[in-house]
Amino acid sequence: MAKNYDVVVVGGGPGGSTCAALLGKAGKTVVLLEKARFPRDKTCGDAISGSLRVQKSLNIIEKLKEQTHAEINGVEFSSPEGVILDIPFASPGFCCKRFIYDNIVFQEALNNADVIQEFEVSELLKQDGRIVGVKGRHKDGREEEIYAKLVVGADGAYSVVAQQTGCLDLDERHTITAVRAYYRGVKNLRGMIELHFVDEILPGYFWIFPVGDGVANVGVGMVDSFMKKKKQNMPNAMMKIIKENAIFKQRFEVAELQPGSLKGWRLPVGSKRRTMHGDGFVLVGDAAALIDPFTGEGIANSMVSGEIAAEWAIKALEAGNFSGEFLQGYEDAVWQELGAKMKASYRLQKIGNIKFLTNMIIKKAARSEQIRNSLKSMVEDIEHRNNIINPAFYLKLLLA
Ligand SMILES: Cc1cc2nc3c(=O)[nH]c(=O)nc-3n(C[C@H](O)[C@H](O)[C@H](O)COP(=O)(O)OP(=O)(O)OC[C@H]3O[C@@H](n4cnc5c(N)ncnc54)[C@H](O)[C@@H]3O)c2cc1C
Repeated sequence: MAKNYDVVVVGGGPGGSTCAALLGKAGKTVVLLEKARFPRDKTCGDAISGSLRVQKSLNIIEKLKEQTHAEINGVEFSSPEGVILDIPFASPGFCCKRFIYDNIVFQEALNNADVIQEFEVSELLKQDGRIVGVKGRHKDGREEEIYAKLVVGADGAYSVVAQQTGCLDLDERHTITAVRAYYRGVKNLRGMIELHFVDEILPGYFWIFPVGDGVANVGVGMVDSFMKKKKQNMPNAMMKIIKENAIFKQRFEVAELQPGSLKGWRLPVGSKRRTMHGDGFVLVGDAAALIDPFTGEGIANSMVSGEIAAEWAIKALEAGNFSGEFLQGYEDAVWQELGAKMKASYRLQKIGNIKFLTNMIIKKAARSEQIRNSLKSMVEDIEHRNNIINPAFYLKLLLA
């Protein structure tokens, strides 16, 4: 007999695992379908962005602290001219390999929901135009159909659920390509995440994020439209910085690339709003293109959208209404929570694309406490990111 659930969640990353865990805790019948076997790697910078509210509700912060991680006390920016600017955080953050972090969130799903691993969803099942379930294949080749009142697509940047509902939109102006690798032995790691606006990768950035145990996550990222225009080869750009850049080649002198760790992936960013619902389905996280356009952080937003999807699944189950019209409420709630942040971060991304402005802001901030404090509030408090288009900010900058 075909399995039948209240909710099927496709994808066990932080977005899908959050959603499945919360639905299970609320007493709903839910199955999480995941094509990999956990723990699994996920190409990422490993900066565990601030989904503190959701992390607390899942009770995972202490579990993270017990595992290998790096405590992060601030962010270091450097300008194309090589000026360095430190912005300390008010409270520490974390970097942790996704191999570890995602498994912590995934365990919450395992503890609260049915989970089928090594099951790849290939097709959406439809009835009268509405999604009513999924079809997929187990590792041993067995095919299975699983039915549900609601399907949650949390299957990442190339989401099958988004693809087959016509929602997948990897618009090159609103998608970033990034590569990352793990290095052991990078000199001068200071418990900061480092974002470097270096000439080799403009308009984009080079990052170094310590992840604990003497290892750093190192990478570069750039908006696809610029990457195409510049015919940029991302791994080559990263290697050029590491091997030839006057500042960084010394720091990587004795660093060892961890075999097999150089990988690339795409980041659908929320500088453009995409459709994330329809009859019988909603999308969360990367499947809904919810990555911050400036920082490239998407873990927090995937978890926040996973939480909101769980709330709306419960509402839909109570109302017995799984129509696209009803689920518009989900999309509006996500945008209500994240929309202003996306807009503000998009503005910052655009500033970062202008070399002379990046040089000027970092140089002045390195000299002026007043400018540093303005930037500090922009880093910590998303509301203040709007100041980047406030003429008063530039006046302060010119007078500093
Ligand atoms: C190079 C790079 C650097 C980044 N750096 C950061 C950073 O430092 N901090 C940050 O917050 N974010 C960062 N991001 C973004 C972050 O990785 C994503 O936003 C985040 O992983 C989104 O989580 P998710 O749960 O939506 O999707 P994912 O984490 O991608 O999880 C999707 C899951 O779905 C599964 N799946 C896919 N297809 C199927 C299928 N057909 N059937 C069943 N299962 C399926 C996959 O195996 C996977 O486990 C970075 C991204 C990249 C590419």
